Amino acid sequence: MSRTSRFAPSPTGRLHLGHAWSAVQAHALARGDGATGGGRFLLRIEDIDQGRSRPEHVEAILADLAWLGIDHDGPAVFQSQRLALYAQALEQLKAQGLVYPCFCTRADIAREVAASASAPHGSDGPVYPGTCRSLSEAVRAERLAGEPHAWRIDMARAVAGAGPLTWHDAGAGTVIADPAAQGDVVLARKDAGVSYHLAVTVDDAAQGVTDVVRGRDLFAATHVHRLLQALLDLPTPDYHHHPLLVGSDGARLAKRHGAPTLESMRLAGVDGRALAADLRAGRLPLGFALATA
Ligand code: GLU
Repeated sequence: MSRTSRFAPSPTGRLHLGHAWSAVQAHALARGDGATGGGRFLLRIEDIDQGRSRPEHVEAILADLAWLGIDHDGPAVFQSQRLALYAQALEQLKAQGLVYPCFCTRADIAREVAASASAPHGSDGPVYPGTCRSLSEAVRAERLAGEPHAWRIDMARAVAGAGPLTWHDAGAGTVIADPAAQGDVVLARKDAGVSYHLAVTVDDAAQGVTDVVRGRDLFAATHVHRLLQALLDLPTPDYHHHPLLVGSDGARLAKRHGAPTLESMRLAGVDGRALAADLRAGRLPLGFALATA
């Protein structure tokens, strides 16, 4: 079967070596060892966060990929232009009674979590305490009319309705989906009308992605994506959660202060294609390693 993979950066900053590592693997999975032909490799710009996304980062991403010799099929797709598609998916979930509006601010949630003796935690910290889940229909309708709101999944109800789910991960094998641990995650942000979870699930299906290659930091998110696929009747791709690159201090590049950007390497005259070939062969530049966790 011909495979379709994608690279899906958020243009909220310049790319670093960890992104090159991810892009090279996604590209190689679809295209073999760099030759054209074979599968499809797509570029999706995940710019739903309009407050943090910048056109100059998009420009740099395109230049970085060209420098690495990573070509993509078709034009890059921008999530900011696909909001209608996500709204449609949200409507489907509303019709199933599986989402509810949430009026809480971050401060409201922090206060609620602090007041609770044993706030459950997901992969991203304490899960939403469920404050708005139990609003009466009347209060909900009144507040909906006048207050900014997000939409959250009613996780317990969604999980009960979907039944047991699994997905296949190249590293972990068959994984039993456990989205409940993530709590009532946001599917439509107050500011953006959609969230990462909903946009990425809808897009991977709409774009015919058969293989999702991304860092292990997103492994937990896949539990949620698998559930959304079941609820929206979408196919489940194969997942390849690769280990993250770390610096010599063991810290993740994304969080590591001063990690060199691909742009700085490009402008310094580093050979991008040679770098991509090294990464493809699993050879990391000096001072970088793969995280063991
Ligand atoms: N846009 C996400 C990021 O830059 C990646 C999403 C994905 O690969 O699923 O971290």
